[in-house]
Amino acid sequence: YRCSYMKNFVASDFSILIVDYHPENLKLLGNVLVKAGYNLNFATNCQEARQKISHLHPNLILFDLKVAEDNGCGVCHQLQEDLKHQHIPMIFMTVNKERKYLNYNFELGVIDYLQKPFDYEEVLAKVKTHLIIKQKSDELKESEAKLNTIITHLYDGILIIDRDGVVKFANPAAARIFGQPLEALLNHSLGIPILTSDKALLDFIHPNGKLGVAEITVGKTEWQGETVDIICLRDVSDRQKVMEELEVALTKQKELSEELEKQATTDGLTNIYNRRQIMKLAAQEFDRSIRYQHPFSILMMDIDKFKIINDTYGHQIGDRVIIEMVKAVLKNIRKVDILGRLGGDEFMAILPETNQKQAVEVAERICLGMREIEITFEAEIIKVYTSIGVASYSEEIINLEDMISYADKALYQAKRGGRNQFCTV
Ligand code: GH3
Ligand code: MG
Repeated sequence: YRCSYMKNFVASDFSILIVDYHPENLKLLGNVLVKAGYNLNFATNCQEARQKISHLHPNLILFDLKVAEDNGCGVCHQLQEDLKHQHIPMIFMTVNKERKYLNYNFELGVIDYLQKPFDYEEVLAKVKTHLIIKQKSDELKESEAKLNTIITHLYDGILIIDRDGVVKFANPAAARIFGQPLEALLNHSLGIPILTSDKALLDFIHPNGKLGVAEITVGKTEWQGETVDIICLRDVSDRQKVMEELEVALTKQKELSEELEKQATTDGLTNIYNRRQIMKLAAQEFDRSIRYQHPFSILMMDIDKFKIINDTYGHQIGDRVIIEMVKAVLKNIRKVDILGRLGGDEFMAILPETNQKQAVEVAERICLGMREIEITFEAEIIKVYTSIGVASYSEEIINLEDMISYADKALYQAKRGGRNQFCTV
């Protein structure tokens, strides 16, 4: 205990002011203190003492009680104020140790007495002790002040709550989060239950009126000899906002990539799969059918005399014919069947789990379905017909290309056979 104090204590770091009417009588005291290493100054009255205090900032004042007595049984009022303000400890030097003085002066902040004639051992011990106490309390105050500055300016709210739920400490951020002045929080019950679950969220209104979110962390700590809850309120509104923005951005990105994917796989005019995609899906379906030895058919379709439609009614009507043709086909195939546009007026349908007999039925339905297409041009009803080639998976077919070429051949036959019909091979 002693050693740790001794180590840091350097007498020359301290200055002592002696206030006495007759400093010449205190030569011996002065010599003892200077020899011990202290910086020493004298004042002969309150006025001078005040001046020296403000210039020299002494760490300790040795004050003759007589000077104090002449000022109405106390140190002059202004000097007292100065000392209180600067927290300078004061020791009275007296020949008179009457109790009434002692009590009175201790109340004024006098920390000790030295009796004349001095016992110099006692003087040195008391001076040193009080300087050390002062130094330590200054350090403590300084660190408290630092801590206070940090806590005051902390963006996170800090609350200390005793066992009865009363707020023992709160910083401005906590007051802001609770939307109350600090005084309204301090020494009052918090009014909401303390959640012990970590990372609970608390909604609050920001001073700007916007909704905020604070993350609550609860811990236990010692506070003025009591076990208390320490609550940290971290304002995560911005984080929440960032998360929301991130989510919006991610959704947008997802939508964009989905859109891109759709654009890459669908035909712009008809919204069914494009050539690349229908070929990819056909390959998948082909592999699957072989693996599981399931039936599988494809239909190759080509609008009859489409060039004439284009030439007679114009390209726009031609486009409408393509669109209506797709609608008619979709009406006559199942949901599991897949339709794609290979280009121009040519389409392919993939019919999983469908043998040749069933595929023929579908082709028949499609041909009949063409009749329901209703496109008129200047009161003229435009007839749309299609030819269909049917190919079904069988053992002599080795790959998809084979199957497609069979379907193409069947389609060619249908055309050659007079169109508006289907053929198989
Ligand atoms: P066939 O019965 O033998 O099939 O005779 P066709 O006139 O239909 O001949 P073909 O299938 O070869 O004609 C396809 C035509 O389709 C050629 C092209 O001008 C036209 N075409 C291709 N793509 C489009 C398109 O996107 N819109 C329109 N309106 N016409 C297209
Ligand atoms: Mg055609």
